[in-house]
Amino acid sequence: MRYAHTLLFDCPECNLPIAVSRICNEKNLEGVAGKPVRIKCSYCEHTSKRFGWTAKAHWVSDWDLEVPVARDKQSQPISRECTDGT
Ligand SMILES: [Zn+2]
Repeated sequence: MRYAHTLLFDCPECNLPIAVSRICNEKNLEGVAGKPVRIKCSYCEHTSKRFGWTAKAHWVSDWDLEVPVARDKQSQPISRECTDGT
């Protein structure tokens, strides 16, 4: 069992919400809170890097990873770890 962490940030440019998810072995929030997350606003396309603990909201869902991780059709590969690979 893994855990999907969803972080909700506010765009520093237009103040609209940006949701980011990470898959993690750990359920506790510390697993992602201290790591930098690259966020891209889908409203104004502003990109920035924020730490997990600056998120406005953070929730965790149990995530069953028995099937292979789906390939993302968009440009970014899916990270199986808590970081975004940078
Ligand atoms: Zn924005």
